[in-house]
Amino acid sequence: MILIENARVLRDGKLVQANVLLEENKISAIGDFKDKSDYVIDGKGLAVIPGLFNSHTHAAMTLFRGYADDMPLQEWLEKKIWPAEARLNDEIVYWASKLACIEMLKSGTTFFLDMYFFPSATARAVEETGIRACLSSAFFDFFNKDLLEINLKRVEKELRELRGYRVLRAVAPHAVYTVSLEGLKRSMEMAEEENIFVHFHLAETEKEVVEFRKKYGKGIVSALDEIGFLNPRLISAHCVWLEKDEIGLMARKGVNAVHCPASNMKLSVGRALNYPEMKNSSLNVLLGTDGAASNNSLDMLREMKFSALLQKFYYGSDSFKAVDAFRMATENASRAFGIKAGKIEVGWLADLVLLDLKKIPMTPCHDLVANLVYSASSECVDTVIVDGKIVVENGHFESEEKIIEKFSKLTENFFGQLKT
Ligand SMILES: [Zn+2]
Repeated sequence: MILIENARVLRDGKLVQANVLLEENKISAIGDFKDKSDYVIDGKGLAVIPGLFNSHTHAAMTLFRGYADDMPLQEWLEKKIWPAEARLNDEIVYWASKLACIEMLKSGTTFFLDMYFFPSATARAVEETGIRACLSSAFFDFFNKDLLEINLKRVEKELRELRGYRVLRAVAPHAVYTVSLEGLKRSMEMAEEENIFVHFHLAETEKEVVEFRKKYGKGIVSALDEIGFLNPRLISAHCVWLEKDEIGLMARKGVNAVHCPASNMKLSVGRALNYPEMKNSSLNVLLGTDGAASNNSLDMLREMKFSALLQKFYYGSDSFKAVDAFRMATENASRAFGIKAGKIEVGWLADLVLLDLKKIPMTPCHDLVANLVYSASSECVDTVIVDGKIVVENGHFESEEKIIEKFSKLTENFFGQLKT
């Protein structure tokens, strides 16, 4: 049992003075009550907010942070990332994921949706660091039938292994330029059978959209609709190059889109996700950092700011408000993943972040959500609680220095071998 005493709690966009009681992994009471608890957090000077959801990332790509910047997407993938990824192994993915989990926790993220190889290695990192996650088994088939069969067998095996961990699961066909329509169809069938999610990159660049039309003689979204790919279990990252009618169709089918503004700007995708139209159509929009190879950080506080800046820059100052960014990072994601977190309510999960209101970026505090989106940084994160357990205390994750040291050594070896 944990009691957070005399804190300011963010509820319905406003800060209210209250105590918050956590029992097991849930919020059991909020208000002005007296309670004896084994563990009391003095909440004076702290704001309690729901933990943030990073709804699209490749956690283990912390390995590639700063490795190959300032290149166009396709060239970056083909010349730098994919050849290096061919040398990945379970151990390096585990340590790179562990670093990512700590980076996310320390910047207020309590849940992430991942897409990468060796997902069991990431699952071990998730369990050991205490963060919550949905992990995907990712694949490409490069339009080769044999490769599709081999990969689907691996995906089935990896999904079975993931059952042994405290994680949600997803199948992740990479994108339409790396996976055949048959591969996408089979992924969705597998997801339906297992009752899990499908995690996918959609309409990230103009090239992807133009080449798809050239190859198949139709738009991506209508082709996806024909194979039964559009439904609420689909979490599609980027969704930049979509037309109005495609957004409308995706909204009607209950698909979720993930805004990845930093990655989109850095890889120069040429447009911004059309949030005004998505809002109009009631398409559920989430927020994600993408991997540290293209971001280069996994900090959702920064990502909320990037989303607001990009939207305002592209669609006008009244197109987007701080609260839109905050909802993308909290309740919109909780709805998509069916997790009772992202709001501070009795009976909801105890996935909470305590922010230090005495830090400069939080001072003064006219509007907490505005501070969160436009000025907060990870230095403001004091305590992080996931599933009722304290995982970050005084801004520190236990044994983080050792983990950073071990990861740095392994990284040196990995890139040393890559040159030979
Ligand atoms: Zn991605």
